[in-house]
Amino acid sequence: MDHYQTLGIIPWQRKNVASNNQSTIETTEQLNWETLQKTVAQCTKCQLHQSRTQTVFGVGNLTAELMIIGEAPGFYEDQQGEPFVGRAGQLLTAMINTIGLTRQQVYIANILKCRPPNNRDPAALEVQECTHYLDQQIKLINPKLLLAVGRIAAHYLLKTKSSLESLRNRLHQYGDSKTPLIVTYHPAYLLRTPQDKKKAYFDLQFTLRTLNSGII
Ligand code: URA
Repeated sequence: MDHYQTLGIIPWQRKNVASNNQSTIETTEQLNWETLQKTVAQCTKCQLHQSRTQTVFGVGNLTAELMIIGEAPGFYEDQQGEPFVGRAGQLLTAMINTIGLTRQQVYIANILKCRPPNNRDPAALEVQECTHYLDQQIKLINPKLLLAVGRIAAHYLLKTKSSLESLRNRLHQYGDSKTPLIVTYHPAYLLRTPQDKKKAYFDLQFTLRTLNSGII
């Protein structure tokens, strides 16, 4: 953290929540959240429910300013019920830490809530059936900024088929809420292609600067 302060980068602060009616608002949101969580846990909308150990809903701060969206649970996530806990997850945690944040300060979710067998790419129908849940999560958390990690998340959230490379280094907007969104590499890709870690570091610095910029 000192390192960033030396560079003149102001660490990200959690937004202030107005104290008026706070408990009422939280209670209502909490109810919606619990209903959503239960619905996801019981979901049988696509074939993936047959092979899953459990659903992987999401993890982190329900009032996070930064929400990170990945692709789908892998083996360890399916076993533990938490996103990004395997090798790619360890790298994602390190990526979060490089901008002075912890996993507990952000919210992490995936496009799919169930593991595709053998970690294959999500099928179009699975994305179509499942992403209603993610859209609701984004609405409830109402983050200041979304970080899409990897092609699958970027393509769904931005409704595009453009290459990941062409989507990097720009501030996009997600959906009707026009939530600001940044795209970077998936940590699993970075494990396979470590020479691109520098570019991911650049994207993370862009993410931090955007959070602190006052323009979002
Ligand atoms: N990869 C993802 O996209 N999400 C996870 O939760 C784990 C690996």
